Amino acid sequence: MNKPGRLIVISAASGTGKSTVIKEVMKQLPDLVFSVSSTTRKARDGEREGVHYHFLTHEEFKRRIEENRFVEWEEVYGEFYGTEHEALERNLKIGKSIILDIDVMGGEHLHFLYPDAILIFLYPPSFKELRRRINSRGSENPDIISERLARFPLEKEKGNKYPFRVVNDDVQRAASEVVNIIKENS
Ligand code: ADP
Ligand code: 5GP
Repeated sequence: MNKPGRLIVISAASGTGKSTVIKEVMKQLPDLVFSVSSTTRKARDGEREGVHYHFLTHEEFKRRIEENRFVEWEEVYGEFYGTEHEALERNLKIGKSIILDIDVMGGEHLHFLYPDAILIFLYPPSFKELRRRINSRGSENPDIISERLARFPLEKEKGNKYPFRVVNDDVQRAASEVVNIIKENS
């Protein structure tokens, strides 16, 4: 019998460095499977269909909601984001642990459905640094950046209740802390 896989949920305000830290964690734990979410937002430069996200139209996303294909979905910053059942269950069944980059509402929802999920919240070192990072990424226009930064208090309030909390001050240091949390709790 395979040891059952676990869900590892990584949440943080936009621009904190979730994607960057997850990439580093996966280098150190190559058996982890990344959960490719579906979204209605447009792909950023360098993002690939089926690797970073499944990029769907609003119509297609709504059709999949009606077909109950999502284990959870949320509207975040005016776009839809969701995690499909099928890939989660397929990987968990064969003992694979899955790392998810999802928002705090999705994290709460998955924790309810999968009580043994490992929930990790990342903090930026400061709000000023968060603003610098999201601007430096250069993937959003100023209105969208303001909208994303405005959600910081909600993310932080919910994130404060996550069982594991890590400051992403330095990518290597933060990734090592996340790797240790995963190793010690799986
Ligand atoms: P998120 O996935 O949380 O929205 P990203 O991983 O896209 O954030 O990171 C946002 C920006 O911040 C990127 O330009 C990334 O290179 C940078 N970044 C991430 N972590 C750090 C860090 N520890 N120190 C400095 N810059 C960082
Ligand atoms: P971004 O547009 O920056 O890639 O993601 C925006 C927000 O949506 C982030 O907080 C990210 O974690 C969240 N997100 C990405 N995929 C999912 C998902 O499948 N479900 C939920 N609830 N949130 C998601």
